[in-house]
Amino acid sequence: MSVNTPDRPSEPMTTAAEPSRVLVVEDEETLLFTLAHNLRREGYHVTTATRGDDGLRLARETNPDVIVLDLMLPGLDGLQVCRLLRKDSQVPILMLTALGGESDRVRGLDTGADDYLPKPFGMRELLARIRALLRRAKAPAPAQAGSEIIVSGDLEIDTARREVRKNGEILRLKPKEYDLLQFFVQHPARVFSREQILDEVWGFDYFGGPRTVDVHVRWLRQKIEKDPADPQRLRTVRGSGYLFEG
Ligand code: CA
Repeated sequence: MSVNTPDRPSEPMTTAAEPSRVLVVEDEETLLFTLAHNLRREGYHVTTATRGDDGLRLARETNPDVIVLDLMLPGLDGLQVCRLLRKDSQVPILMLTALGGESDRVRGLDTGADDYLPKPFGMRELLARIRALLRRAKAPAPAQAGSEIIVSGDLEIDTARREVRKNGEILRLKPKEYDLLQFFVQHPARVFSREQILDEVWGFDYFGGPRTVDVHVRWLRQKIEKDPADPQRLRTVRGSGYLFEG
């Protein structure tokens, strides 16, 4: 798999015989061993690295379904690995760190981590988080009656399938990017503060502060704006929040 290849076009149908692949990048060898052992016992196919640069290379070579990534690593640190991976991959990333402060959580999110687990953590919690990430990444679009297509400019949002097309082409959005876009499209031309957006889109299960909103807005702009540096759809209203031009 070349470095320039984008992430997989679509998740192949997985069967029980086809275990999910987890890449664990962790330099504490005892913890790495424990993680790998527990993941294998759960039936995952596990590859491991103890350096950030090796982890990045393995991620690109083996295209795992989820990555458990330590923050403090030799070679490249977890944030650097995350940032580099996010240039061409949406693989779910669970970041581990000894630092539990909000600024570190935001930095992790800011660079594209999907979830965050401060050390020390229980193995059951880690396994639950990995299952959640895989579930979110692999969830087939629910086939529902009453599918609603919302058209907004060059965007077409299929709320039943949680699919967005821009000029007819499917956009690859992370779950929260999708939720945020759907919220804005359903509430055009209104200013929302970051706190309102957090309440509406993240609800009770968010773990970042208002910066989480800024990060996701930035990602979304990269996908929906002609010029993300000069957004015309998802606009910043200085001192107030964000507004979506319908
Ligand atoms: Ca470490």
